[in-house]
Amino acid sequence: MALTVENALLDGERVGVRCEDGVIAAIGTEVSAEAGDERIDAGGAHLVPPLVNGHTHAAMTLFRGSGGDLPLMPWLEEKIWPVEAKLEEEDVYRGARLACAEMLRSGTTRFWDMYWHPAATARAVEDAGIRATIGAPLFDLNGSPKKLREAAHRSLEELEAFGSHVTPALAPHAIYTVSEDSLRWIGELSAERGLPVQIHLSETEKEVQDCIAEHGERPAFYLDRLGVLTERTALAHGVWLDPDELALVAARGATVVSNPVANMKLAVGGVFPYPAARTAGVRVGLGTDGAGSNDSLDLLADLKTFALVQKHAAADPTAIEAGEAWAVATGADAPLLGATKLDPGAPADFLLLSARSPELGIGDLDADLVYAASGAAVATTVVAGRVLMREGELPGLDEIVARAAERAGRLGL
Ligand SMILES: [Zn+2]
Repeated sequence: MALTVENALLDGERVGVRCEDGVIAAIGTEVSAEAGDERIDAGGAHLVPPLVNGHTHAAMTLFRGSGGDLPLMPWLEEKIWPVEAKLEEEDVYRGARLACAEMLRSGTTRFWDMYWHPAATARAVEDAGIRATIGAPLFDLNGSPKKLREAAHRSLEELEAFGSHVTPALAPHAIYTVSEDSLRWIGELSAERGLPVQIHLSETEKEVQDCIAEHGERPAFYLDRLGVLTERTALAHGVWLDPDELALVAARGATVVSNPVANMKLAVGGVFPYPAARTAGVRVGLGTDGAGSNDSLDLLADLKTFALVQKHAAADPTAIEAGEAWAVATGADAPLLGATKLDPGAPADFLLLSARSPELGIGDLDADLVYAASGAAVATTVVAGRVLMREGELPGLDEIVARAAERAGRLGL
């Protein structure tokens, strides 16, 4: 069935958008519903493209509020890894369903995920109707490269069985948890099969110093030498990338996903150098990271933090402008992340922002979105022409929250 949204505000004009077979069939001032269409009167709500959460661990909603106030390594070693050792598929499914609900409510329709039992996350994605690029976290520093390869193949096979809302990826955890040989193998497999790669990189200064001590080069150069720095690669964090590394990342066409709130919560002590990255021509996206280290998945709220911390770190209020920040959050400048545009033929993924939202009534829309709004301004979320949230109502939300809380309780969280 076709869906037509009428009376939406786009660039100051009242427009209609008609969706057929999951894509935008027509958009413009002349577009209205045809006989038999499901029809939504937007009532003057703003029509905007959805957000892309470029880095998260969706099922870590189960760890929300139980991370303590610890630095990265003690947090992982004391709070996260011992509990993750007990995770079952159903835990991941329930945690990911909660994450999908939160993201849809706050305007995210696609996310990049790295987590255990990736097929359970993929099932949650399909059931929720959202989209995701998913990879199993690959580790082998205390394990075996053979097991890493088996895990990669097994997860790819499982993920490829899902429909078009799930994009399989390779997700080596980090350069300090994956061996040199395995990273090289991952680079080769990605090239051979055109698979996206997501990896944490340059999150802490220690990671950089250890890389220099062990390999004689900084992390981006190390990854490049192993064939892992390509236009298919999304680097989460990039806090400590220096100017030479930024030039290399730009030359290779890789994408950096900044996670300012997680970086600040774990107090990594630095800020992703966005102005230098922009000057170098690096593609940049925005992520929340997992709920264990954020603890929210509201990317629209994090967008304010991203813009503010950039201005603050640069001691320059012009370091990033509102329109540019909005483009980062929607993935408009980072094609790898899979953002959608409001154009005929594009996937019918979009948001309606409430015309009654007090934060959006006055002033420039981009500035209001970046500095005033949170995800609560999102009224209606449409993915592939399906209305997944209508006027703030997400079907089944109470059940989704209750089931996730049960699983967190089972894990002692
Ligand atoms: Zn992460």
